[in-house]
Amino acid sequence: MAECDICAILKNKEEFRFIYEDEKCFALLHESPAVLGHTLVIPKQHAAILEELEEEIVEHLFVVCNKMSTLLFERLKVHGTNIILNNGHAAGQELNHVTISVLPRKENDKLDLEWEPKKATEQELKAVASIIKSASDIVFAAKGSSHSTKTAEHNSHETEYHNEEEKIEENYMAKAFRRTP
Ligand SMILES: [Zn+2]
Repeated sequence: MAECDICAILKNKEEFRFIYEDEKCFALLHESPAVLGHTLVIPKQHAAILEELEEEIVEHLFVVCNKMSTLLFERLKVHGTNIILNNGHAAGQELNHVTISVLPRKENDKLDLEWEPKKATEQELKAVASIIKSASDIVFAAKGSSHSTKTAEHNSHETEYHNEEEKIEENYMAKAFRRTP
């Protein structure tokens, strides 16, 4: 199997785009930026999606993103930043390694990240909130981020759903939990 492109970049000590490194992650400039200064914050440990990382690393990544954002504000004199993680192919992830984009933004920079807001009824919102919350005890109680632990615990929860609609949603959720990158 070919080596991951991101892991290969990490081994290249000559890479001039590196702007930060510590024991858990590094940051480098995107070679094809959405806007100049587009920074990628990347865990050193190979992980295809965020859920594969230990919580300690997930926490650290967000702290580093925030500091990179501060640096972009201060040094590039921008007016805002977007911190974006595309988690999974369906979400637009292109590389098989977690990368978080920190985008420096200026007023009227013409970068379009907006979407068309959809209408949702109160009933739909309540149904989705209920489906999500019904598994929150399990997910928030779980230590670490092992897929298999979550899936096993989640399956044991399955019998608590009562109607078909919830069953369908539950199956969708179970698949999402089990999704492989
Ligand atoms: Zn990798």
